[in-house]
Amino acid sequence: MSTAPPSTVTLDDRFARELPEMSLPWQAEEAPEPRLLVLNERLAAEFGLDTDWLRGPDGVRLLVGNQVPDGATPVAQAYAGHQFGNYSPRLGDGRALLLGELVHADGHPRDLHLKGSGRTPFARGGDGLAAVGPMLREYVVSEALHALGIPTTRSLAVVATGRPVRRETVLPGAVLARTASSHLRVGSFQYARATDDVDLLRRLADHAVARHHPAAADADRPHLALFEAVVAAQASLVARWMLVGFVHGVMNTDNTTISGETIDYGPCAFLEAYDPATVFSSIDHGGRYAYGNQPGVAQWNLARLAEALLPLFSDDQEQAVALALDVLGTFRERYESAWSAGMRAKLGLPGGVDAAALVDDLLALLRENHVDHTSFYRGLGAAARGDVERVRGVFLDLAGIDAWLARWRALAPDADAMDRVNPVYVPRNHLVEEALSAATEGDQEPLERLLEAVTAPYGERPGLERYAAPAPEDFATTYRTFCGT
Ligand code: AMP
Ligand code: MG
Repeated sequence: MSTAPPSTVTLDDRFARELPEMSLPWQAEEAPEPRLLVLNERLAAEFGLDTDWLRGPDGVRLLVGNQVPDGATPVAQAYAGHQFGNYSPRLGDGRALLLGELVHADGHPRDLHLKGSGRTPFARGGDGLAAVGPMLREYVVSEALHALGIPTTRSLAVVATGRPVRRETVLPGAVLARTASSHLRVGSFQYARATDDVDLLRRLADHAVARHHPAAADADRPHLALFEAVVAAQASLVARWMLVGFVHGVMNTDNTTISGETIDYGPCAFLEAYDPATVFSSIDHGGRYAYGNQPGVAQWNLARLAEALLPLFSDDQEQAVALALDVLGTFRERYESAWSAGMRAKLGLPGGVDAAALVDDLLALLRENHVDHTSFYRGLGAAARGDVERVRGVFLDLAGIDAWLARWRALAPDADAMDRVNPVYVPRNHLVEEALSAATEGDQEPLERLLEAVTAPYGERPGLERYAAPAPEDFATTYRTFCGT
């Protein structure tokens, strides 16, 4: 390690210090030729980081973990998890490191975390590396979700390492630097529980309360209140995914956060044609993580969290189970109410209107007519202003949509309000692929354009028309995404 960066970068090691059983001190592999590909200057500014310095040699070395500030303790975090329903007692950061915690302008801490920084003791058979394409994909899609107002980890930078990565072919390697409210997952609690050390489990839960859900500390049963807060955060998160048509693709318990932020952009993708059965991931053969299954999966993952936390709910196991079930049972209602309110907003209807039947009938029409999710709702804003052709034109069942439009327009939808919640631009799969292929070949222009579109998703801008249009049909129906690459 060479000279320390300026004292402006301070990384706290609170997690490593308070919960030493939950991580292993570790260092990033040396990147032979680090080269900054993309830096999120706005996000850097939220941490008071000097962007000129970050772009310089010392800054780039920080962003790949090769030069950390004095006093920082980079660690690989330990966690367990259910992957596609199967329990693995030891997953952990196989190719990632928590560098430490930064203070955000809002006064709260954020993890500074690297992905693709080399093998760790949790790497199992993996090479510890990441390729440029998938790290840029996480950068684009996470920043798009953030711009859509959806809680997520953020992407600070992607740095090419100069190290080749062997996948189906040899690809250029990269490290993603991301920030997050924390990297605590359901799998972190499963790991702590499996140690049979209730004191560790309690310290982990107390850490999560302090960091994410401080109001729980004042409840009669603080750890039950923590569980309830996580149920609420996840119900709200998944409702937001559903409203924008986001398919996470790998909702394992190690990819389900305690903060309620979206994490781990592997095989994720946005719906084109609306269909609850949509699956993009090449490894999701059974459709476990299909678009329409996401609320049910989230609740299943929260049941695994409840199991892990049971000893903290009550000394009496039967009572602990009863308490957990009561709280878990609130998930559906919380989800339904967040989703219904969101659907009313998408349709430009005021809060008091009961739109349940209208929404059900619309979803059936969208599915039967293979209608593009994103452009439909945006076009509906135009329909609220009287221009119905944009939406009518995409339905085969004209009588069906005409009857529906008549019912809906009778409720006097608010077009301006619709344009504030229905995005024009989402990271459509064909655009993401185009940008990543070009960037992997060294041409960053398509990536910059895509970022320009999706980081300001609600305002329609001239020149970005192709970013608002659905994919060519053959692309849309055969598109597959790949996990863990
Ligand atoms: P994910 O599904 O990407 O969240 O990863 C699941 C688990 O596999 C985590 O424990 C990761 O750290 C680990 N993992 C994924 N890819 C690699 C890799 N190339 N090398 C080492 N570990 C990996
Ligand atoms: Mg993961």
